[in-house]
Amino acid sequence: MIYMDNAATTKISEAVAKEILNTVEVFGNPSSLHRLGIEAEKKVEAAREQIAKKLGVNKKTIYFTSGGTESNNLALIGTANLLQKRGKHIITSKIEHPSVLETAKFLEKQGFEVSFASVDCDGRLDLEEFSSLLRPDTVLVSIMHANNETGVIQPVEQIKRKMKEKSPIAKLHIDAVQSFCKLPVTPTAWDADLVSVSAHKIHGPKGVGALYIKDGKISPIIHGGEQQSEIRPGTENVLGIAGFGKATETAEFDFSRAKALREYFKERLLKEVENIKINGSDEYSSGSVLNVSFLGVKAEILLHAFEAKGLYVSTGSACSSHKPQPSHVLMAMRLSKKEIEGAVRFSFDETLTEEEIEQAVEIVKTETAEIRKYM
Ligand code: PLP
Repeated sequence: MIYMDNAATTKISEAVAKEILNTVEVFGNPSSLHRLGIEAEKKVEAAREQIAKKLGVNKKTIYFTSGGTESNNLALIGTANLLQKRGKHIITSKIEHPSVLETAKFLEKQGFEVSFASVDCDGRLDLEEFSSLLRPDTVLVSIMHANNETGVIQPVEQIKRKMKEKSPIAKLHIDAVQSFCKLPVTPTAWDADLVSVSAHKIHGPKGVGALYIKDGKISPIIHGGEQQSEIRPGTENVLGIAGFGKATETAEFDFSRAKALREYFKERLLKEVENIKINGSDEYSSGSVLNVSFLGVKAEILLHAFEAKGLYVSTGSACSSHKPQPSHVLMAMRLSKKEIEGAVRFSFDETLTEEEIEQAVEIVKTETAEIRKYM
């Protein structure tokens, strides 16, 4: 098997699996006052420390959630509700993950005004347009760090600089689900107020994530419990959290190797496969995603043909691949219908070898030629 769908999810690493198994014995409720509770609480706090360390922040600013989707919901709804008396304008971009886009649309229905900023043909935020959208009553800007479909990195520092000039009360939320432990995710250097991360993209378990909240000020979206300062109540997912902590601690992604591997794979595909187009900026690539349009072929047909040969990839993002709608990210980049229909996402992790890349090229070349014979 050659697994090139790491942006959808990753395999749990051995170290993480071991940590989860060990934690099974620690069955107390972290809120209990007795020894068993304290042991469980220690596990949760150790993981909080590991994640905080990776982000270079104080552990008190880390709140565990059920994953990136909940972190994004809490960041957007919680901030909008907190600051609504000061302003009701929110900015996000057209290429965000659905957990941001749909939440922004939900807030629109609640009476907030949302501007959806554009990107250029390379998938980078149009900073000039973004700047023109900023207003004194803008209370929140939510932009992703690395895009899940293209791997394109967004200009976080420049965004914050523009916000300071024109929207001083606005908070900056960064969805760093695709970049955490792969690229430097630096809330302090970015001067970000909120940052979302998720465990299952970094060889941790599914269903656990975290939100960094700089000042600890947000309106909760879940109620009923005193855990995590009532910001995110509910008995903590101790197993998942312990696994997340270990995944963060043991993450081994090497950006320069990933970028070189991506470059090599790209060059080999361009040489071996006719009629393809690479989507998204090379210069600003996270190194972990290569989005390729196979012109004249439907991506879904390719996906299954590759799968039959043991190569696992995605069409667009995993979350939207059950829906037959064209990718909103590639549409925002103004790709043609044909380019969007044939778009396949290959996403890497640090375990992928040069030999696997060679095998993948061979499968892609052979299967694409075979399918094209019948088109
Ligand atoms: N944000 C981005 C950029 C993602 O890629 C994903 C998942 O694919 C999410 C948020 C949602 O994270 P989770 O799957 O942990 O809910």
